[in-house]
Amino acid sequence: MDGLPEPLPPLAGPRAEDLAPWACHSARSRGRRHPELDAPTRTAFQRDRDRIVHSTAFRRLVYKTQVFLNHEGDLFRTRLTHSLEVAQLGRSLARALRLNEDLVEAIALAHDLGHTPFGHAGQDALNTCMAAHGGFEHNLQSLRVVDALEERYPQYDGLNLCFETREGILKHCSRANAELIEAREPGGVGRRFLDRTQPSLEAQLCNLADEIAYNAHDIDDGVRSGLITLDQLQDVPLVARFTRETLAAFPTLGGRRLLYETIRRMLSAQVYDVMSATAAGLAEWTPSDVDAARQAPPLLRFTDAMRAESTALKRFLFANLYRHPQVVATTVQAQQVVHELFAAYMDAPTQMKGHRPLGAAPARDVADYIAGMTDRFAAREHERLTGRNLIT
Ligand code: MG
Repeated sequence: MDGLPEPLPPLAGPRAEDLAPWACHSARSRGRRHPELDAPTRTAFQRDRDRIVHSTAFRRLVYKTQVFLNHEGDLFRTRLTHSLEVAQLGRSLARALRLNEDLVEAIALAHDLGHTPFGHAGQDALNTCMAAHGGFEHNLQSLRVVDALEERYPQYDGLNLCFETREGILKHCSRANAELIEAREPGGVGRRFLDRTQPSLEAQLCNLADEIAYNAHDIDDGVRSGLITLDQLQDVPLVARFTRETLAAFPTLGGRRLLYETIRRMLSAQVYDVMSATAAGLAEWTPSDVDAARQAPPLLRFTDAMRAESTALKRFLFANLYRHPQVVATTVQAQQVVHELFAAYMDAPTQMKGHRPLGAAPARDVADYIAGMTDRFAAREHERLTGRNLIT
């Protein structure tokens, strides 16, 4: 080792004594579907996060719609920036609650990998196309991406992630699909939907961080787009409370900074609310380990008051932003693109350039191909196959 510094001892993530008993400990992971040796300097969950960041599906998130179509503006959230915000909120909460931050980060970065182009419009259209072929669920698709669709390793398809990361990615799943997963993988990630138990607290945390993130950034993007205003949002108690609080502290503040300060205070209040509601639940249940936490009721939660306020905000955003005529108009075109792409590839599967069919069924191969597309690739493919440009 002449001339080289002495190697430092490996720093392998959170020490067991820093984690709560009910947290997921990487050394006690239920493991990977294809057994692998441990990495010398990273825990199993850190390695999962790194595999996700290096995946093709992750890079595509930058050109996938969250709410506003990708080409409508450079500052709106995309699936990528949304996922980063979920990871940031998730990690802060995980650290405070002594949960496994690395696992939370891995789940957060992967949670939207299965989303179609064009946001929920794309997903609804693909689900309709797949109605006679088992349907399309984006959570299940995220799992399919990390289990089968990614092509990175010589020995297996997918990323070969740990059980705990895959458990967190599969946020929802119909009973029929859970039964299919259970048949392939007995006692695996489909099981809890049949047993009606909870996922790990890290997985529960990511669901809440997702909700806190999109409620906040959809307000920001909605106001930026001009489709909703901060004035209008004063009808929503959760927003009005923090606008009032901000104006009490900074009476002359207006415009962008008033909006940001309102959102910032709202985010902090939700994070602290989750911490105190969760701490109370944990004090009551004191699960001895992660399996006991899976058997308990959902322990990562808002207080009832915050849950009601968050629901009211969601209702507002649904009525005034997601269902805004201007958003709906782009939705209709995006759905037409997906429907026509689906029909074109079903007629001529050889048009799916560079696609590796998994061979389950022709329709599922087409759904995998379309789901993997970015907004702009879908628009270009649609134009190539139909000669019409619907997304301008
Ligand atoms: Mg999300």
